Amino acid sequence: MATNDCAAAMADMVAACTSCGECVRPCSFLQQQGTPAAIARRGNAESTLLSAFGCSLCGLCDAVCPEGLSPSAMFMAMRQEAVRNGLIDLKPYAPWLHYEKLGASPLFQRDLFPAGCTTVFFPGCSLPGTRPDTVQGLYRLLRTYDPAIGLVLDCCGKISHDLGLYERFTTIFKRLSTRLVNKGITRILTACPGCSKILRKYGEQFEVVSVYEVLVSSVPLPDAQNQNRLVTIHDPCPARFDQPQQQAVRQLINQCGYQVEELPSHGQTTRCCGQGGMVEGCVPGTVKQESSIIAAEAAGRPVVSSCGACCETLASTTPTAHIADLLTGTGNFTAQPVSSLKRWLNRLKLRFSRLS
Ligand code: SF4
Ligand code: SF4
Repeated sequence: MATNDCAAAMADMVAACTSCGECVRPCSFLQQQGTPAAIARRGNAESTLLSAFGCSLCGLCDAVCPEGLSPSAMFMAMRQEAVRNGLIDLKPYAPWLHYEKLGASPLFQRDLFPAGCTTVFFPGCSLPGTRPDTVQGLYRLLRTYDPAIGLVLDCCGKISHDLGLYERFTTIFKRLSTRLVNKGITRILTACPGCSKILRKYGEQFEVVSVYEVLVSSVPLPDAQNQNRLVTIHDPCPARFDQPQQQAVRQLINQCGYQVEELPSHGQTTRCCGQGGMVEGCVPGTVKQESSIIAAEAAGRPVVSSCGACCETLASTTPTAHIADLLTGTGNFTAQPVSSLKRWLNRLKLRFSRLS
């Protein structure tokens, strides 16, 4: 594992960015800060490095850049540099870091490795916290396809990763990956697009596939109950370049009997729900502002997403369901996010539930 070289990333941006403004138009952070080249020209000053914590790392700039640049990678490198230089005050991020630390502790970890297990289902943090019954339903469906599939409840370390806390992230991730390697696990089925992105980037030893791709191709699903109800889809930003996942989600929604109308911002140009990069820690109001833009695009149509965190955010502004709710019949389109206490109780419920 290696950290990004901030100075090199900024120098490359100054050299290659034409300041065309394509990435600025859809991004409120860049509208305030200027083009990536303008930011990079300010150099390694403290205020410039800290400004990167206002970027959600959503990657929309990468998707629209005609030069094929990755401003989001530069902002990630700037965050890491700010941490290395001791510039960041982590107090505003304490709730996220506490959530991650507790979630990765033995109290919430669980391993189920049936005989012959080389593949595990890794539902991540937000789905167990908001939908423990749905996680159980997904696991049951998967085991109709392969009874040797295991289950691992743990945290991938994305919060530390995105905050630029590289050593802390490495500790969490290595603990997880070593445990899986020692158990002979070679394939991980993910439900959370954030976990998929982290596991693919740092877990080269594993084949990482979204659970939706497996379900669409291999598992017989219950009969469709909702003929022709119209829904729209919010693609989570960590999955913006993950076309197989996006297609599988659409196919599954159709198989559940819903008709899909696309949002104006979807696929590669999907928008962040506002949770990305924990921007809320330094720019309060970001979640409300960004989720309202998606709700306005949905224009009253119920939204389906494949990210538990996006569902929680969007549920405050528009009726939202997780794709897994539709597949397992365990949930409805809801306007109510799950409270923090209830999430912990849900995770404990799953941690100690009877699963076989
Ligand atoms: S990653 Fe997202 S928030 Fe950050 S600069 Fe790019 S488009 Fe804007
Ligand atoms: S789209 Fe690319 S070239 Fe244009 S301003 Fe953004 S980073 Fe620079």
